[in-house]
Amino acid sequence: MIPVSATTLDTSDQIASTKDSQHWQKSIAKGFRTPSELLDYLNLKTSELPYQIDPNSPFRMRITRHLASLMEKGNPFDPLLLQLIPRLDETTEQPGYQTDPLMEEDYQVIPGLIHKYQNRVLIIAHQACAIHCRYCFRRHFPYSEARLSESSLDAIEQYIQSHSDIDEVIFSGGDPLSLADEALSNLIQRFDRLPQIQTVRLHTRTPVAAPERITETLLNTLNNLSCQVVMVVHINHPNELHPDLLAKFLRLRDINVTLLNQSVLLRGINDCSKTQIRLCKQLFAHGVLPYYLHSLDPVQGTSHFDVNQQTAGQIWLEMQAGLSGYLLPRLVREIPQRHSKTWIHP
Ligand SMILES: *Cc1c(COP(=O)(O)O)cnc(C)c1O
Ligand code: SF4
Repeated sequence: MIPVSATTLDTSDQIASTKDSQHWQKSIAKGFRTPSELLDYLNLKTSELPYQIDPNSPFRMRITRHLASLMEKGNPFDPLLLQLIPRLDETTEQPGYQTDPLMEEDYQVIPGLIHKYQNRVLIIAHQACAIHCRYCFRRHFPYSEARLSESSLDAIEQYIQSHSDIDEVIFSGGDPLSLADEALSNLIQRFDRLPQIQTVRLHTRTPVAAPERITETLLNTLNNLSCQVVMVVHINHPNELHPDLLAKFLRLRDINVTLLNQSVLLRGINDCSKTQIRLCKQLFAHGVLPYYLHSLDPVQGTSHFDVNQQTAGQIWLEMQAGLSGYLLPRLVREIPQRHSKTWIHP
């Protein structure tokens, strides 16, 4: 283990980390909650937009000021704006688009625990996210039924102990980094302690929305685990890569966290091999390896983001030609009942 900082146990540092935590929680709480606030900030007029906004979407708009600051003012097609602004298109019902296309509920063996693949389980660590991505595949997930409690955590632990094949625990959500540091540390440590667990993995988009979420306390927790630690971030476009975020990646690399990225291929946002290649190279320059490029799951309300499989394959081939082999993400799709994600390389 590499010390996070020489003075981690110093009281002045503990005070600093409390401030740290108030800082990120405030910055997420102060985000934009209505399309009109955001559009005003971006100097855009609802009436002049080339698409229709849905201010009443039940999947509420949620955008941090940090991400809004990365959007280009006056551009209704900004790739970050398009990922986050609720549009009336989401109310269109398309054949083949369902609320749970992955049939995750069938694999929820205990409330909050999804066991679909042999050696790894996924824990719905927290239902909330710092931002709401409009294409989210869990936008209809019944989170209230999955809420973790002391008794469900005991049941999860027993379940893992009775399945000796399981050697990796994935914390997902929502977003596990929505939990406060203490709760998150307790949760991770509880599973890190199990002798059969070799790897703990965090799936998160919060650092993109609020880089300050990577607090000294969190770094310290991760640095003191016995397992291998993997963090899979979710970045779709190079414009999401603020210098503050890149600096945090380097801090995570310093404590030997393996950093991977997953993206979703989204029409009009990142369905271009040049953009994808730029993203992969910039990620690598800051210690993050491209992992998955997901083809959109057919979730109700997201069909306007879909890139057809042929175009996706073409983009991926162009990426393959322009990137070193180790920088090429796997182009995948989630097909229910399979034992892993399905590679859809042409
Ligand atoms: C994607 C996913 C995982 C992780 O799969 P990897 O291919 O190891 O990244 C685990 N459980 C569920 C339910 C998943 O959807
Ligand atoms: S951060 Fe992930 S889980 Fe949360 S809304 Fe976005 S895609 Fe969905």
